[in-house]
Amino acid sequence: MNEFNLIQKYFTRPTRHTDLGAGDDAALVTIAEGMQLVVSTDMSVAGTHFFHDAAPYDIGWKSLAVNISDLAAMGAQAKWATLAIALPEINESWLAEFSCGFFACAEAFAIDLIGGDTTKGPLNISITIMGEVPKSKALKRSSAQPGDDIWVSGTLGSAALALSHLQGKIKLENDILQANIHELHRPMPRATLGLSLNGIATSCIDISDGLLADLGHVLKASNLGAEIHIERLPMSPYHVKNLHEPLIHQCVLAGGDDYELCFTAPPSKRDEIQLLSQQQHLFLTCIASTYKPAGPTDSGVQPLYKHMPLSLLKQGFDHFA
Ligand code: ADP
Ligand code: MG
Repeated sequence: MNEFNLIQKYFTRPTRHTDLGAGDDAALVTIAEGMQLVVSTDMSVAGTHFFHDAAPYDIGWKSLAVNISDLAAMGAQAKWATLAIALPEINESWLAEFSCGFFACAEAFAIDLIGGDTTKGPLNISITIMGEVPKSKALKRSSAQPGDDIWVSGTLGSAALALSHLQGKIKLENDILQANIHELHRPMPRATLGLSLNGIATSCIDISDGLLADLGHVLKASNLGAEIHIERLPMSPYHVKNLHEPLIHQCVLAGGDDYELCFTAPPSKRDEIQLLSQQQHLFLTCIASTYKPAGPTDSGVQPLYKHMPLSLLKQGFDHFA
C-alpha cells in the first residue's frame, strides 16, 4: 500500500457541506451569507496526549472530538476538518480502527474531512477544524461581566481520575474505573450546547486543561475575579465521597481532558439555561459568580474547600511547566 491508496482507503469519505474535498491541491468550501469562518487546530501526540498502545478507535474519536469542543466553546457550528497525520509505519488494522473512530465522531457531529497530509514519522495527529458563527456573535473569553453566573456542563474530574489510575498513581476498583474512563477515551464535545448559548452566554471556554486554568483565562481576559467552592462543583459520586483527598481536588479543579463547557451568563438567564439543561439532557451547574476585583492584579480564580483557600500542586495542564 502506498501513501495515495492509504489516503483513498482510510481518509476519503463523501462530504455534505463541501464544494471540493480531498483529492486536489486544496479544498473549496463556501461560507454562508452573514457568517464568519471560525478556525482552530489541536495536535495529539503519542506519549503526550495518549498512550502509544491506546485503542486506535479512541485516538481517532478523541483527536477530532477535542477540536469540535473548541468550536463549541466559540458558539460555532463545526463543519470542516483537515487531518495531518504522521505514521511510523503502515499498519492497516491500526488505520482501519483509527479511521473508524475518527469518522464515527465526524458522522456524529456532521463534519466533512476535506483534506490533510500523510507522512512517515512518530505518531502525531494534527487536526484543523473550521466552522461558522453568525458575524460578531462568537463567544469570546474577554466579554464576561461582573455579577455574571459561572456555569459548567456535565461533571468534572472523571477523565483525570481514570488517567491517574492508568498512570499507576492510584488503584481504582474496576467498577469505579469503568464509570470514569469513558470520559477520558471518548469525550463528548458539547456542540449543541455551544450553539444554543448564542444570545445567552457572555463568554465561554472549553475545559481541556482543568477548570482553574481555563476559567482563569476567562477571568483574566475579562478582568474579573471568582471564588470557587469545590463542594459546589458537579462531579461523580466517587469524587463526592472522596472529596477530602488532595488527589480528588486535583482531578476536579485542575484535571485535564474534561471537554465540558464553562460559560458566564447574567442571572436573568437562569430559567433559559435550566430549560437548555432539560432539553439537552445535560447537567448544567451554576458554580459561582464573578466580581470586579479590587485591582487589576487581583483578577483570576480562588479555589476554596470548607471555606478555606486551597493551594494545589498544579493549577492545570501546561506542556512546558
Ligand atoms: P500535495 O502533494 O499536493 O500536498 P498530498 O499528496 O499531500 O497532496 O495529498 C493528496 C490529497 O489528499 C490532498 O487533497 C490532501 O488534502 C488529501 N489528504 C492527504 N492526507 C490526508 C489525510 N490524512 N486525510 C484527508 N485527506 C488527506
Ligand atoms: Mg501534501
